[in-house]
Amino acid sequence: MSHAAAFSGVDTWIFDLDNTLYPYPPGLWAQIDARMGGFISERLLVDAIEARRLQKDYFLRYGLTVRGLMHHHGVAARDFLDHVHDVDLSEIQPNPALGAAIAALPGRAVVHTNSDRAHVLRVLARLDIDPGLFAAIHDIESTRFEPKPGARAYDAVAAADGFDPARAAMFEDSARNLLEPHRRGMRTVYLPTVCDIASAGRNEAHVHHITDDLTDFLRRITDEAT
Ligand SMILES: [Mg+2]
Repeated sequence: MSHAAAFSGVDTWIFDLDNTLYPYPPGLWAQIDARMGGFISERLLVDAIEARRLQKDYFLRYGLTVRGLMHHHGVAARDFLDHVHDVDLSEIQPNPALGAAIAALPGRAVVHTNSDRAHVLRVLARLDIDPGLFAAIHDIESTRFEPKPGARAYDAVAAADGFDPARAAMFEDSARNLLEPHRRGMRTVYLPTVCDIASAGRNEAHVHHITDDLTDFLRRITDEAT
Protein backbone atom coordinates (compact mmCIF):
# COMPACT_ATOMS: atom_id res chain seq x y z
CA MET A 1 0.00 0.00 0.00
CA SER A 2 1.26 3.50 -0.77
CA HIS A 3 1.91 5.93 2.04
CA ALA A 4 -0.86 8.19 0.80
CA ALA A 5 -3.35 5.28 0.97
CA ALA A 6 -2.09 4.12 4.37
CA PHE A 7 -2.67 7.59 5.83
CA SER A 8 -5.72 8.53 3.84
CA GLY A 9 -8.21 10.56 5.86
CA VAL A 10 -5.74 11.37 8.63
CA ASP A 11 -6.20 14.95 9.81
CA THR A 12 -4.38 14.86 13.17
CA TRP A 13 -0.66 14.07 13.30
CA ILE A 14 0.65 13.45 16.79
CA PHE A 15 4.39 13.53 17.41
CA ASP A 16 6.39 12.48 20.40
CA LEU A 17 9.34 14.85 20.94
CA ASP A 18 12.51 13.26 22.31
CA ASN A 19 14.19 10.81 19.96
CA THR A 20 11.28 11.24 17.53
CA LEU A 21 11.53 14.81 16.19
CA TYR A 22 15.30 14.64 16.76
CA PRO A 23 17.76 11.89 17.66
CA TYR A 24 19.10 12.15 21.19
CA PRO A 25 22.65 13.47 20.82
CA PRO A 26 25.19 11.22 22.55
CA GLY A 27 25.36 12.12 26.20
CA LEU A 28 22.13 14.12 26.41
CA TRP A 29 20.19 11.43 28.25
CA ALA A 30 23.14 10.92 30.62
CA GLN A 31 23.10 14.68 31.38
CA ILE A 32 19.37 14.63 32.18
CA ASP A 33 19.73 11.44 34.22
CA ALA A 34 22.59 12.92 36.25
CA ARG A 35 20.67 16.16 36.87
CA MET A 36 17.71 14.14 38.23
CA GLY A 37 20.04 12.43 40.69
CA GLY A 38 21.67 15.72 41.66
CA PHE A 39 18.30 17.37 42.29
CA ILE A 40 17.11 14.49 44.51
CA SER A 41 20.37 14.39 46.43
CA GLU A 42 20.31 18.15 47.14
CA ARG A 43 16.60 18.44 47.83
CA LEU A 44 16.19 15.34 50.01
CA LEU A 45 19.65 15.54 51.59
CA VAL A 46 20.60 11.99 50.61
CA ASP A 47 23.80 10.67 49.09
CA ALA A 48 24.17 9.86 45.41
CA ILE A 49 23.48 6.16 45.86
CA GLU A 50 20.22 6.72 47.75
CA ALA A 51 19.24 9.42 45.25
CA ARG A 52 19.77 6.95 42.43
CA ARG A 53 17.70 4.31 44.21
CA LEU A 54 14.80 6.74 44.75
CA GLN A 55 14.99 8.02 41.18
CA LYS A 56 14.67 4.53 39.73
CA ASP A 57 12.15 3.32 42.33
CA TYR A 58 9.78 6.25 41.66
CA PHE A 59 10.19 5.83 37.93
CA LEU A 60 9.22 2.16 38.13
CA ARG A 61 6.34 2.74 40.56
CA TYR A 62 4.83 5.86 39.05
CA GLY A 63 6.10 5.88 35.46
CA LEU A 64 7.78 9.19 36.21
CA THR A 65 10.35 10.09 38.84
CA VAL A 66 8.72 13.49 39.39
CA ARG A 67 5.44 11.91 40.48
CA GLY A 68 7.14 10.05 43.32
CA LEU A 69 8.88 13.25 44.40
CA MET A 70 5.60 15.17 44.33
CA HIS A 71 3.71 12.45 46.17
CA HIS A 72 6.22 11.49 48.85
CA HIS A 73 8.23 14.67 49.31
CA GLY A 74 5.98 17.55 48.26
CA VAL A 75 8.43 18.60 45.56
CA ALA A 76 7.11 21.26 43.18
CA ALA A 77 7.14 19.69 39.72
CA ARG A 78 8.23 22.96 38.13
CA ASP A 79 11.42 23.04 40.24
CA PHE A 80 12.32 19.50 39.24
CA LEU A 81 11.54 19.89 35.53
CA ASP A 82 13.39 23.21 35.25
CA HIS A 83 16.42 21.69 36.92
CA VAL A 84 16.62 18.44 34.93
CA HIS A 85 16.03 20.07 31.56
CA ASP A 86 18.65 22.77 32.08
CA VAL A 87 20.96 20.85 29.77
CA ASP A 88 23.20 21.61 26.82
CA LEU A 89 21.11 21.13 23.66
CA SER A 90 23.75 22.59 21.32
CA GLU A 91 24.42 19.20 19.73
CA ILE A 92 20.87 19.05 18.37
CA GLN A 93 21.21 19.90 14.70
CA PRO A 94 18.81 22.29 12.96
CA ASN A 95 16.31 20.42 10.79
CA PRO A 96 14.09 22.90 8.95
CA ALA A 97 13.37 20.21 6.31
CA LEU A 98 11.46 18.28 8.96
CA GLY A 99 9.49 21.41 9.83
CA ALA A 100 8.60 21.86 6.16
CA ALA A 101 7.48 18.22 5.88
CA ILE A 102 5.25 18.65 8.96
CA ALA A 103 3.85 21.91 7.63
CA ALA A 104 2.87 20.15 4.39
CA LEU A 105 0.72 17.55 6.16
CA PRO A 106 -3.02 17.92 5.69
CA GLY A 107 -4.70 18.87 8.97
CA ARG A 108 -3.23 19.56 12.41
CA ALA A 109 0.09 18.56 13.89
CA VAL A 110 0.41 18.28 17.66
CA VAL A 111 3.09 17.24 20.14
CA HIS A 112 2.43 14.71 22.92
CA THR A 113 5.45 14.27 25.17
CA ASN A 114 6.26 13.01 28.66
CA SER A 115 8.64 15.96 28.84
CA ASP A 116 7.62 19.53 29.66
CA ARG A 117 6.65 22.45 27.51
CA ALA A 118 9.72 24.58 28.21
CA HIS A 119 11.93 21.70 27.03
CA VAL A 120 9.78 21.28 23.90
CA LEU A 121 10.18 24.95 23.01
CA ARG A 122 13.95 24.88 23.57
CA VAL A 123 14.31 21.77 21.39
CA LEU A 124 12.15 23.23 18.60
CA ALA A 125 14.28 26.40 18.68
CA ARG A 126 17.42 24.26 18.25
CA LEU A 127 15.75 22.36 15.39
CA ASP A 128 14.77 25.66 13.76
CA ILE A 129 11.16 24.47 13.66
CA ASP A 130 8.46 27.06 14.34
CA PRO A 131 6.43 25.97 17.39
CA GLY A 132 3.47 27.62 15.62
CA LEU A 133 3.44 24.63 13.25
CA PHE A 134 1.87 22.67 16.11
CA ALA A 135 -1.75 23.32 16.95
CA ALA A 136 -1.08 22.12 20.50
CA ILE A 137 1.74 20.94 22.73
CA HIS A 138 0.52 18.33 25.21
CA ASP A 139 3.19 17.97 27.86
CA ILE A 140 3.49 16.22 31.20
CA GLU A 141 1.82 19.12 33.04
CA SER A 142 -1.16 19.36 30.69
CA THR A 143 -1.71 15.60 31.05
CA ARG A 144 -1.67 16.11 34.85
CA PHE A 145 1.54 14.07 35.20
CA GLU A 146 0.03 11.01 33.56
CA PRO A 147 2.82 9.62 31.37
CA LYS A 148 2.67 7.51 28.25
CA PRO A 149 2.27 4.54 27.93
CA GLY A 150 -0.55 4.76 30.53
CA ALA A 151 -4.08 5.03 29.13
CA ARG A 152 -4.78 8.19 31.18
CA ALA A 153 -2.11 10.11 29.28
CA TYR A 154 -3.93 9.45 26.00
CA ASP A 155 -7.31 10.16 27.61
CA ALA A 156 -6.03 13.59 28.68
CA VAL A 157 -4.77 14.43 25.20
CA ALA A 158 -7.96 13.15 23.54
CA ALA A 159 -10.11 15.23 25.92
CA ALA A 160 -8.05 18.36 25.38
CA ASP A 161 -7.71 17.92 21.65
CA GLY A 162 -11.00 16.36 20.60
CA PHE A 163 -9.59 14.53 17.59
CA ASP A 164 -11.13 11.46 15.97
CA PRO A 165 -8.74 8.55 16.61
CA ALA A 166 -9.76 6.95 13.32
CA ARG A 167 -8.33 10.03 11.61
CA ALA A 168 -5.17 10.35 13.71
CA ALA A 169 -1.61 9.08 13.38
CA MET A 170 0.99 8.80 16.15
CA PHE A 171 4.77 8.89 15.75
CA GLU A 172 6.95 7.47 18.53
CA ASP A 173 10.43 6.16 19.25
CA SER A 174 8.94 3.98 22.01
CA ALA A 175 7.04 1.00 20.59
CA ARG A 176 5.11 0.45 23.81
CA ASN A 177 3.79 4.02 23.61
CA LEU A 178 1.98 2.95 20.42
CA LEU A 179 -0.08 0.24 22.11
CA GLU A 180 -2.82 2.58 23.34
CA PRO A 181 -2.99 4.54 20.07
CA HIS A 182 -3.39 1.23 18.20
CA ARG A 183 -6.16 0.12 20.59
CA ARG A 184 -7.94 3.40 19.96
CA GLY A 185 -7.89 2.93 16.20
CA MET A 186 -5.10 5.38 15.43
CA ARG A 187 -2.44 4.70 12.84
CA THR A 188 1.02 4.19 14.35
CA VAL A 189 4.57 4.87 13.19
CA TYR A 190 7.62 3.67 15.08
CA LEU A 191 11.08 5.21 14.88
CA PRO A 192 13.55 2.53 15.96
CA THR A 193 15.78 3.28 18.90
CA VAL A 194 18.65 1.51 20.56
CA CYS A 195 16.89 1.55 23.94
CA ASP A 196 15.73 -1.98 24.86
CA ILE A 197 12.71 -0.91 26.90
CA ALA A 198 11.41 1.30 24.13
CA SER A 199 11.91 -1.24 21.37
CA ALA A 200 10.11 -4.06 23.20
CA GLY A 201 7.10 -5.12 21.18
CA ARG A 202 8.25 -3.51 17.95
CA ASN A 203 7.27 -6.61 15.96
CA GLU A 204 3.73 -6.70 17.28
CA ALA A 205 0.49 -5.59 15.69
CA HIS A 206 0.41 -2.17 17.36
CA VAL A 207 3.40 -1.06 15.28
CA HIS A 208 1.89 -0.36 11.84
CA HIS A 209 4.85 1.35 10.17
CA ILE A 210 8.57 1.63 10.91
CA THR A 211 10.91 4.33 9.64
CA ASP A 212 14.32 5.65 10.54
CA ASP A 213 13.85 8.80 8.44
CA LEU A 214 10.86 10.81 9.61
CA THR A 215 11.24 13.65 7.10
CA ASP A 216 11.34 11.26 4.16
CA PHE A 217 8.42 9.27 5.57
CA LEU A 218 6.25 12.40 5.86
CA ARG A 219 7.24 13.59 2.40
CA ARG A 220 6.15 10.29 0.92
CA ILE A 221 2.71 10.77 2.48
CA THR A 222 2.19 14.23 1.02
CA ASP A 223 4.04 13.83 -2.30
CA GLU A 224 1.97 10.80 -3.20
CA ALA A 225 -1.19 12.55 -2.09
CA THR A 226 -0.78 15.40 -4.59
MG1 LIG B 1 10.55 9.69 22.81
